[in-house]
Amino acid sequence: MKPKVYVTRLVPEAGLNMVLKSCDAEVWEDELPVPREVLLEKVADIEGLYCLLTERIDAALLDVAPKLRVVSNYAVGYNNIDVPACTAHGIPVGNTPGVLTDTTADFAFALLMAAARRVPEAVRYVLDGRWKTWGPKLMLGVDVYGATLGIIGFGRIGQAVARRARGFDMRVLAHDPFLEALPPALDDVEVVDLATLLAQSDFVSVHVPLTESTHHLIGPSELAAMKPHAVLINTARGEVVDPDALLAALTGGQIGAAALDVTEPEPLPVDHPLLALPNCLVAPHIASASIATRNKMAVIAAENLLAGLEGRHLSHCVNPEVYARRE
Ligand code: NAD
Repeated sequence: MKPKVYVTRLVPEAGLNMVLKSCDAEVWEDELPVPREVLLEKVADIEGLYCLLTERIDAALLDVAPKLRVVSNYAVGYNNIDVPACTAHGIPVGNTPGVLTDTTADFAFALLMAAARRVPEAVRYVLDGRWKTWGPKLMLGVDVYGATLGIIGFGRIGQAVARRARGFDMRVLAHDPFLEALPPALDDVEVVDLATLLAQSDFVSVHVPLTESTHHLIGPSELAAMKPHAVLINTARGEVVDPDALLAALTGGQIGAAALDVTEPEPLPVDHPLLALPNCLVAPHIASASIATRNKMAVIAAENLLAGLEGRHLSHCVNPEVYARRE
């Protein structure tokens, strides 16, 4: 008999078909996330869960999923999952690292450039019929080339952003308390403390995972420490930046602009004051959204799910300690 699994959204077919072929799978097909109460019902008799960052996988859910043997998250970040609780239940948790690194870094750079050169504002200006002539002072922005880029969180994506900054002759600063050594190809990056990074950077790009210690890592004092023309880019998780502090910093001229792929809350309500600011650019959490990358993520998440169901080690497991516990 095929194992029973639940897939919480229509993921790309490259991965979905693998699941449908090997499992007795039910798929939540709506555009919006599966409501919590429905999910709690669905997990009652499943062995595998293929989920997204929109689902909270916590102890309460695990308690009503007695047969669950694997949780496969369609994302590299896994802050939606109570990993210690999964480990306590002997459940391996999979994620999709690596395949989205360059796609996400591309988008971080796209946001950086769009904010620096005011691209969304300029497009809106034309659409609004306000373009009358070439203007010497029209839509002046800040230069990207030769500027200083501060990268907070120098892991896979942070380093990929640094590689892109090379092509713009940027000086790159990095802050990452867990970084052991710079990769040889990036040995000109200056590793600094957070205060130095904030004080010296023209652009600050955030690439940390969301954890208890990175929650509101960028708050009032960090924003106050930045340059008045600085641009903050967040493609990590919304909760890493305190939205009230950001609003105050943008309206009070403490920083120049922000470009956010992720927000707190998510989605940001249309009447949220950040959306009314010309110097705040918000995208709907699409940094990894290229066709090729989303296909690869779907396949890796399917492979993780199938490995867990077959009792094999997941190739991308965020709690490998679960195996030591079993063996
Ligand atoms: P990674 O684990 O390779 O890198 C994260 C780095 O952050 C690590 O080097 C870690 O040491 C560092 N770090 C942790 N705490 C820190 C702190 N307090 N200060 C500074 N550095 C700290 O992960 P990655 O693959 O580069 O992904 C990073 C995050 O980006 C993910 O956790 C995910 O939440 C987010 N992400 C978002 C999107 C998107 O669609 N917007 C796409 C992919 C990833």
